[in-house]
Amino acid sequence: KAIIITLDGYSSCGKSTLARQLANKLNYVFIDSGAMYRAITLYFLRNHINWEDLDAVKNALTEISLSFQYNEHTGISDMYLNDENVEALIRDMLVSEHVSAVSALKDVREFAVAQQQEMGRKKGIVMDGRDIGTAVFPRAELKIFVTADPAVRVERRFKELYAKNPNITIEEVRNNLEMRDYIDSNREFSPLRKADDAIILDNSNLTREEQLRIALDWAHE
Ligand code: C5P
Repeated sequence: KAIIITLDGYSSCGKSTLARQLANKLNYVFIDSGAMYRAITLYFLRNHINWEDLDAVKNALTEISLSFQYNEHTGISDMYLNDENVEALIRDMLVSEHVSAVSALKDVREFAVAQQQEMGRKKGIVMDGRDIGTAVFPRAELKIFVTADPAVRVERRFKELYAKNPNITIEEVRNNLEMRDYIDSNREFSPLRKADDAIILDNSNLTREEQLRIALDWAHE
């Protein structure tokens, strides 16, 4: 029977890679909740929304419509912001620099979480993020808390970003991950933490295939 699988953890520990693989194998829907916060952040940046002004934030959110649409070329779902494919834009360093501040806002979280919960009304989904096992689906059947050595995480994210932008430095990547992890873990509303009933998966020394095998075994239990 179809279940809900949640994957939470710090930045760049391979959550979305694993979530995508799991969804493929199980024929489930994969939802990258971070992409939603990134798209909201992109909207705020483009439209010069001052996110310290709560009325401005509330107003801006009424103008935002988010959706995932399947991309036949890549076989994955792309993030759409008001009917524009923003998948590539939301991975930019500029968005990464501000996304944790934006996603710490109560109104932003309520906006995103309501839509995430709606997507989970049909079972058979894998969702990755920071608060999925704690706030979005506290009753999910399988919760995984993914961890990896910080040096491994920096190295992985650096390789990914460097391929697109050779000007990026490893310090920039490290600073960004540390800053986001700090804000994400210390914010007031649904901070990043392991759900009591989540299983820890440390993938520092695992290949993608090995971690998938482990998670699939849990899903089948
Ligand atoms: O997963 P990703 O690194 O793309 O997420 C970007 C940012 O979005 C995180 O650093 C965090 O600030 C925010 N986020 C969140 N809650 C989630 C998913 C992401 O606050 N469920």
